[in-house]
Amino acid sequence: MIIPKANKLDTSQLKEIEAIAADFECSILEIQGRNRCVYAILGDEGREVMFKRIAGLPYIAKVDMIESPYKLMDRRSGLSDHRVRVGQIEVGKDKPFIIAGPCTIDPANPNFYIESAHALKEAGVDALRGGVWKPRTNPYSFQGDNHSLSIILQAREETGLPIDIEVMDSTQLKLALEAKVDVVQVGTRNAQNYCLLKEIGQLTAGSSTAVLLKRGRHMASPNEFIASAEYLVAEGNPNVMLCPRGTTPPLDGYRNHPDESITPLLKNRTWAPVVVDPSHSVGHADFVPACSLASIAYGADGLCIESHIQPAKGIGDDPKQAILPQKVKELVVACNEVWKNRYLP
Ligand code: PEP
Ligand code: MN
Repeated sequence: MIIPKANKLDTSQLKEIEAIAADFECSILEIQGRNRCVYAILGDEGREVMFKRIAGLPYIAKVDMIESPYKLMDRRSGLSDHRVRVGQIEVGKDKPFIIAGPCTIDPANPNFYIESAHALKEAGVDALRGGVWKPRTNPYSFQGDNHSLSIILQAREETGLPIDIEVMDSTQLKLALEAKVDVVQVGTRNAQNYCLLKEIGQLTAGSSTAVLLKRGRHMASPNEFIASAEYLVAEGNPNVMLCPRGTTPPLDGYRNHPDESITPLLKNRTWAPVVVDPSHSVGHADFVPACSLASIAYGADGLCIESHIQPAKGIGDDPKQAILPQKVKELVVACNEVWKNRYLP
């Protein structure tokens, strides 16, 4: 990781460093943070001579060799002071960052989505979620609909809130980026789809688009999760939020095995904000508030909660796990209280 003295290398400086790196079969990747650029060495960065030549250049402040499987996501990397913003908000700054909305947008009943969005704005959330395309276990279940994209765009227009949608392939990604969605969500099933992660990283590099990366439900270690995020950052987009959402096998009675407890581990290893999804974790509306509060106590920067004005009339996961916007409103207040009183190392 190369950190220049100025905010950015000029073209001739970058060329000089690229030439040194090329002598050692390495290349350089520019990563645009909010305030400055850092440069990753791709390839075997442990080549001592290369390291010394770059470190010796007069315009270089520091070259860090990070002994970590994930060089850019590491808390000690040059991105350690990077802050993720969604719309106008810096995630995890003064209060929990709350994303909420229905699991799945029902294109046949757009008013459910629009009214849920208004109620959630009133509840004080920071961003809206809503499934346009859905990863369904059963191929005969509703798979989503392109028309739902226009519904969530209308909700953004009317509420002024940023929006988060999941994409599963290149076509959906391109449609989402054309629509300038604020947060691209990678679901649990694609958390290790490295081709998709790379493509998202490439197409959002240098932009303000954030990525909400869910934890793979079969992922073993937190490091596997962080390594997936590294794919996005290594392609040039450091605006990554890590989203624990429960793993499998489930804890008897819950939809998954709740994993908000990995939050302190993630915070200890990386600089990326952690936004827990309590809804998929426990999978039942009654348990979502406790899981939300626990997540904030564990040090989470935010939450992604499924909420619907009439859960029983929703589709996808909504009848089971969506909570009412009024509950979200109460939770926002309660989470703020936990946030103020929590003990973090
Ligand atoms: C969702 O957010 O509705 C969803 C499908 O999430 P996950 O990928 O965590 O199952
Ligand atoms: Mn869902």
